Amino acid sequence: MAEKTIVLPDMITVGDLATQLDIPVTKLIGELFKNGIMATVNQTIDFDTAQIIVEELGLEVDLEQQQEEPVITSKATRELGDDAVSRPPIVAVMGHVDHGKTSLLDAILNLKVVTGEAGGITQHISAYQTEHNDRTITFLDTPGHEAFSALRQHGAALTDVVVIVVAADDGVKPQTVEAIKFAQQANAKMIVAINKIDKPAADVNHTKQQLAEHNLTPEDWGGDTVIVEVSAKTKQGIDKLLDMILLVADIEELKADVSGAAEGLVIESHMETGRGPVVSVLVEHGYLEAGQFIVAGGANGKVRTLTDFRDKPLAKAGPSTPATVTGFKELPQFGDRFTIFKSEKEARSVASDSRQAHRGSSASLSMTSTELLTRMSKSAKQQQVNLIVKADVQGSLTSVTDSLRVIENEELDIRILGSGVGNISENDVRMAASSNAVIYGFNVTLPTSVKQLAAREKVSVRIFKVIYELIDDARDMLTSLLSPEVVETQIGSLEVKGVFRIQRDMVICGGKVLSGKVVPDLLARVKRGEEAIAEAQVHSVQREQQEVKEVFEGDMCGLQLKTRGKLLLEEGDTLEFFTRETKARAL
Ligand code: GDP
Repeated sequence: MAEKTIVLPDMITVGDLATQLDIPVTKLIGELFKNGIMATVNQTIDFDTAQIIVEELGLEVDLEQQQEEPVITSKATRELGDDAVSRPPIVAVMGHVDHGKTSLLDAILNLKVVTGEAGGITQHISAYQTEHNDRTITFLDTPGHEAFSALRQHGAALTDVVVIVVAADDGVKPQTVEAIKFAQQANAKMIVAINKIDKPAADVNHTKQQLAEHNLTPEDWGGDTVIVEVSAKTKQGIDKLLDMILLVADIEELKADVSGAAEGLVIESHMETGRGPVVSVLVEHGYLEAGQFIVAGGANGKVRTLTDFRDKPLAKAGPSTPATVTGFKELPQFGDRFTIFKSEKEARSVASDSRQAHRGSSASLSMTSTELLTRMSKSAKQQQVNLIVKADVQGSLTSVTDSLRVIENEELDIRILGSGVGNISENDVRMAASSNAVIYGFNVTLPTSVKQLAAREKVSVRIFKVIYELIDDARDMLTSLLSPEVVETQIGSLEVKGVFRIQRDMVICGGKVLSGKVVPDLLARVKRGEEAIAEAQVHSVQREQQEVKEVFEGDMCGLQLKTRGKLLLEEGDTLEFFTRETKARAL
């Protein structure tokens, strides 16, 4: 029985917990550190983490969680009444790298979104709108499917239609398949755009065939997959693609409620000098207007400016409209749900409740108790890899950290010790040096003084402008840490009929080959009954006193075995012969 019971709230600072437990705060910080959590006195940990740490410390204390009223910040979905209005479809464009996602969006929007992008790869989620036949279509620009899935996990059924882009001169590729799977999982309607049909190497039929192999049979082949042949370069087929998007949307009867307060999702957020938090949202219901009191996750504020995707002022933003908002006091997170409140007081209190209730506010830790538990239960053979990640904007940061987490496997325990928006700082380098971590930077810079510090501290800092390159680099680095896979191939077996000589590192014996064959250099597992008692290696094979290259099933033979230490081989033992290869493994 524990000596005493302490009642703790859902979240508690490290300092307060130490006081409650009556132990030095340094001891608590040390224990957290041992478990991969870098915490300061003022940081908060949740109840479950506290519980785990108390057990690890072996304290005679029972913890009890204070019962709290659940905090309801917003509804995830809204009932649609009779007065619901139709809304524009939200479309995501996905596909293999270089198949023309950006060019296609560019052609559709007639905007130069390609310029200024490193490698032409989209870096963070943004959204755009275009008009077609007097109707509006909203396009989401997605950084990587992982980030998109993460957004979805935050409770959003965001996309109505996924346009899968496949280059006609390259066909279906791994990321195409991924995109198809994603659309299926997301329950979104799919339209395939076969792009680059202007190229001489374009082979539309072959591409269709490959699509059919993935259960996307074109309508003109008797299937039900809408396929549009396009060229982002010549603009051929773009109108038809837009027609099809609207047609698919019409079948879905997309509606939104505009009778209540505006709500939607944060799809991008970053800090800007002079403007403070700059937050892109996608409105799902209601109308967002300047002057309203807004809450997203643990952040609140009053909408100061509202602009559209071209940075033009907006009077109000209705359903399916992407808008950029300033006026937040803190930076909300990518994926946070936003809602509007009548008074500033109400907004402030909801945001503060949400901060208390959710992890992820600025003072809390990046690790959840479930992650901590998983970590602690993982076997010691797992290699621990510490990373610190910095990125230019919140959207990219989430994208990069999510993608890095995906690489983790049975043997590699990837710990993202710290992550944040902004350039790499001396603090980051110090943290990396003390925890033997590698720093990954995405679209950020490394000031000269920090670079010098990193060189002195021998901290590896790797900066990228393209997400895929960063992930590839991480994969390479991690692959080199994986222990190679060992593959054993059975070649034959033999029953020992006589033991002629036993030396310190050698045995000479005779026996009958039971199966397969025996050749010099094979490894041999020595078994007595079911038990494997030793391992040896075939040095030479003899038949009728002659050294031979091989003997087969049914043959009687003599063997000279190399052994590690003295092997007391006995008549009746069996030898199992095999080869052992090591293969480098891929992640
Ligand atoms: P993403 O990686 O899928 O966004 O692909 P991009 O839009 O960056 O396009 C990759 C390359 O293909 C660029 O060099 C484009 O100019 C080229 N490209 C894209 N669409 C077309 C097309 O319809 N025809 C031709 N000829 N080239 C294209």
